[in-house]
Amino acid sequence: MRNSTKPRKVVDITRPVLAKNEEFAAANRGLFRDKAMLVLNVIGSPGSGKTTLLEAMARHLHDAMVVIEGDVQTRRDAERIEQAGCRAYQIETHGACHLDAKAVAHALEQLDLDRGECEVLVIENVGNLICPSSFDLGEHLKIGLLSVPEGDDKVLKYPSLFSRISDLVVNKIDLLPHLTFDVERVIAECRSLNGDVRVFKTSGKTGEGVDNFCRFLLDERAKILVARASRA
Ligand code: MG
Ligand code: ZN
Repeated sequence: MRNSTKPRKVVDITRPVLAKNEEFAAANRGLFRDKAMLVLNVIGSPGSGKTTLLEAMARHLHDAMVVIEGDVQTRRDAERIEQAGCRAYQIETHGACHLDAKAVAHALEQLDLDRGECEVLVIENVGNLICPSSFDLGEHLKIGLLSVPEGDDKVLKYPSLFSRISDLVVNKIDLLPHLTFDVERVIAECRSLNGDVRVFKTSGKTGEGVDNFCRFLLDERAKILVARASRA
């Protein structure tokens, strides 16, 4: 939440904030449906390799991928994505530690989605395992990204995230020979919260597993086109 120097009464603001968020999320969902885009909300800690994974994905998806970057400050990540060959829009939250659906709606207006086909839109959330999990952005896939150096004990420490994700991505698997990290433990703990979760193992650095993940995304996007054709 934002820093504030003003003293505040203790009131539960969570419910109206989330209700308002849900209105914007529904509008975003409508736009994603109109444009037949597959949309990912990628949530992980600072330094878990989110942007590096997106750079590796750009080598497979090229300009079919468009990225919205969320950071507290700087355009650094959007610049990296642009250098990797994809369109990117940077949201600077100036203190807020998560993206909300309204910020994404504003970014979508700036992106000019009619310029070239966007098959996969990736929203890289602000690095944080806690509050991004509560804010629906209108996405199809909520991706929880956990990297090997963070440790294999994190899933049960952050259950609000790992119980809500559609897909778990274990990243930086190139470091497995060097660190103690039990991938099977992570998967078992995640499935104990979330029986339907799909699991991918990737290294943004070496590219291992990234082709498989991108193939899955294009298959999911193809399903959206089939669904649209059957509605027409
Ligand atoms: Mg980043
Ligand atoms: Zn937050």
